[in-house]
Amino acid sequence: MTTTPPIVSLRDVHKYYGTYHALRGIDLDIGAGEFFSLLGPSGCGKTTLLRTIAGFEDLSSGTLLLSGQDMAGVPANRRPTNMVFQSYAIFPHLSVAENVAFGLRRRSDLNRQAKAALVEDALDMVGLDGFGARAAHALSGGQRQRVALARALILKPKVLLLDEPLSALDKKLREQMQNELRRLQRHVGITFVLVTHDQEEALIMSDRIAVMFEGEIAQLADPQTLYRRPTSRQVADFIGVMNFLPASLTAGSTAASVEIAGLGRAAITPEQCPAGMPTGDCTIGIRPETMSILFDGEPAPARETSGQVHELAYYGDMTYYDIALDGVEKPVTLSMKNLVGRRVLERGETARISWDERALIAFAK
Ligand code: ATP
Repeated sequence: MTTTPPIVSLRDVHKYYGTYHALRGIDLDIGAGEFFSLLGPSGCGKTTLLRTIAGFEDLSSGTLLLSGQDMAGVPANRRPTNMVFQSYAIFPHLSVAENVAFGLRRRSDLNRQAKAALVEDALDMVGLDGFGARAAHALSGGQRQRVALARALILKPKVLLLDEPLSALDKKLREQMQNELRRLQRHVGITFVLVTHDQEEALIMSDRIAVMFEGEIAQLADPQTLYRRPTSRQVADFIGVMNFLPASLTAGSTAASVEIAGLGRAAITPEQCPAGMPTGDCTIGIRPETMSILFDGEPAPARETSGQVHELAYYGDMTYYDIALDGVEKPVTLSMKNLVGRRVLERGETARISWDERALIAFAK
């Protein structure tokens, strides 16, 4: 739960398109000033949810409050929200300033001077000061995205809704804009609700993330909790890389333990295991970076096993290894930093592997 009163509040929200059930009972509170992300695979309903908050879609049932006000029957242009779209809808034949001023088209109460001052402020906010007179078609992709942001922010909405705003940018620029967007959000203090299917983007930028599958929120948490303590295998698989190993859970008198294929026996704490999980067959999840290869007689800092290098992918800074463990059908993936003086193993080599039982997560089978 958020500590500040929610600025966006949804209760049991359902949305049908004909007979298709796109949102299936969404309960969600988003706090004032939060950077909140809706994350999920294509078709899970995240854009639909964003559009219902914006007022571009009606709810089939349930309630939506914005700043405590019921939004039933309130059109999009009367809501304290504004939206930035994936295709930024910049008018190429207009100047940058004219594009940004478009955000003020309904403000007949403002004179030209007041509008020009607001445009200047908005351009300054997104790092485009001095660009006002430039033709919009003469901008780079990143600059166009900033114009779209300035246009959406100029009216100082309470909530800015962003629908995959960075997906059209190349990787480097996208990473740069992720940082900028986060900085901008902190600076203006407006609540940002971002839709993305990119888990890395959501982890980098968000205070909290709702992971959605098939019209439902599967888990809602801060990035670290989501990554370290996914509550289902589906979430664990969607956020980052996770190896899944067959295992068997035994409940002891003081602590539980698991017998894991390829790794052996390990103790497991209640935080690593969903409450009420039945003993017997289960699945153990372990992340690539929590295992490591031991070189040249290095002692194991934790538990040790061995396997054969099945495949590897060299990324410059990191190498990802697929390691075949005895008794496990699918090789496990582990990642190693390519530190100075550390060699890269070859396919077929035998590797000593260290793993740590504190990094395990148990899932019901
Ligand atoms: P993407 O990342 O691909 O945009 P999404 O998670 O945002 O996916 P939505 O666009 O919310 O998904 O769509 C959720 C489901 O509702 C999809 O199966 C989609 O086909 C369906 N849907 C969306 N809009 C409509 C519509 N206007 N009429 C009928 N079905 C729709």
